[in-house]
Amino acid sequence: MEALGTDWAIDWVRRSAAVIAEHKAELSGLDRAIGDGDHGENLDRGFRAVAAKLDDATPETPGAVLKLVATTLISTVGGASGPLLGTAYLKGAQAAGDAERLDAAAVVALLAAARDGVVLRGKAEPGDKTMIDAWDPAVRAAQGALDAGGDASAVLSAAAEAAESGAEATDPLVARKGRASYLGERAVGHRDPGAQSSAYQLRAAATAAEG
Ligand code: ADP
Ligand code: MG
Ligand code: MG
Repeated sequence: MEALGTDWAIDWVRRSAAVIAEHKAELSGLDRAIGDGDHGENLDRGFRAVAAKLDDATPETPGAVLKLVATTLISTVGGASGPLLGTAYLKGAQAAGDAERLDAAAVVALLAAARDGVVLRGKAEPGDKTMIDAWDPAVRAAQGALDAGGDASAVLSAAAEAAESGAEATDPLVARKGRASYLGERAVGHRDPGAQSSAYQLRAAATAAEG
């Protein structure tokens, strides 16, 4: 498939808003087990605000769409995940720059920049039971798909699949960052909510690219 444009970015965001709304209770339930129970509400508030802004704004590039997501999430989500995800979308927007369309390599660069933004802000490493456990394998799988000659859509579907496996793989971990880190062994057996919501967002990106 051809490179991905502004329509893709807008579809990604709208699909993210829809899947977060659909799984709001589940995400807050995960956060109730190992945090303060607000992750679904936090992200739903943020993505609803993003969707509302998209109804009025007419961003002209994928980067402009992601920048709108970033600023809106930072100002509406609060908690740990607002600034972290906001930074992910902001760095992703910067990587996308002014390009009108993103090819497979540009999509990998966007995802890598987003992951690096979360690390810069939250200092989590893979295995700390955070959203990085979805983002990091997603970036690695995306790079692998690019190296294998995959197009932008193939890169995104590899990323989504790896993010889903990565989120699942947080179940047995002890958390070393965020509220869940206060629980020690009691976090074992529970999925990290931020890893799960990140997997939903990356699946939304892949589905939007299937066009
Ligand atoms: P809060 O913990 O402030 O209530 P949320 O519930 O919205 O915020 O988000 C919690 C999620 O944030 C966690 O599940 C985890 O994935 C993520 N998180 C927390 N701290 C970090 C960090 N330092 N680095 C990366 N992700 C983090
Ligand atoms: Mg919380
Ligand atoms: Mg909170």
